[in-house]
Amino acid sequence: LPPVVTIDGPSGSGKGTIAKLLADRLGFTLLDSGALYRAAALAALQKEVDLADEAVLTQVAKDLDVRFLVSDGRLQVLLEGRDITNEIRMERVSMAASTVAAIPGVRAALLQRQRDFRLEPGLVADGRDMGTTVFPDAPVKVYLTATAEERARRREAQLREKGVSVSLRDLLDDIRARDAQDMNRKASPLAPAEDAVELDSTGVGIEEVLRRVLALVQE
Ligand code: C5P
Repeated sequence: LPPVVTIDGPSGSGKGTIAKLLADRLGFTLLDSGALYRAAALAALQKEVDLADEAVLTQVAKDLDVRFLVSDGRLQVLLEGRDITNEIRMERVSMAASTVAAIPGVRAALLQRQRDFRLEPGLVADGRDMGTTVFPDAPVKVYLTATAEERARRREAQLREKGVSVSLRDLLDDIRARDAQDMNRKASPLAPAEDAVELDSTGVGIEEVLRRVLALVQE
């Protein structure tokens, strides 16, 4: 089987950025598993499904017609052929994704789809349970963290770049709520794999984090 580098961690830890840069550097395929859960959540919201109805949500995940395209080096996400790349980053979709991802049937429905990304010459898999559940045999596992305050600051800077202004306080509250929901759920709670290397990116630049991850890959 082709090698896999798993990059897990909480939202805003920088794992998306690092996973992308690493995949580019290694010439590997990139799996943004969060985008898959976000697409499932958006499909449920569009169908106006009750987010407490596990059976219906599991069916939505099974039927999910989602495709990932890479154009100009950017990941594009299509739901039933429609571009949802930007829409799935909205706060209401983030929260719904976290709710939908807590359902065991949904996780089971999306498991094989994630494993199908394991293609030659290799895969960089970004998520929460890449090292624990989806690719337990991955030779390199990273668990990237940063304090909630740092993650809120990064998110604020990202939004400011897009011309959106939000209070740091609100972002911090959102991040803490989502962390709590991701860590306390029964199905695949957010936690590092036993054999993962933990990296704290608080106050560390992207280049330096990438350098440390590359060093693990090249070991
Ligand atoms: O990583 P991202 O913030 O895009 O993920 C959105 C949500 O999807 C997370 O809050 C988490 O609840 C869920 N998720 C998950 N397992 C993954 C990736 C994401 O449960 N592998």
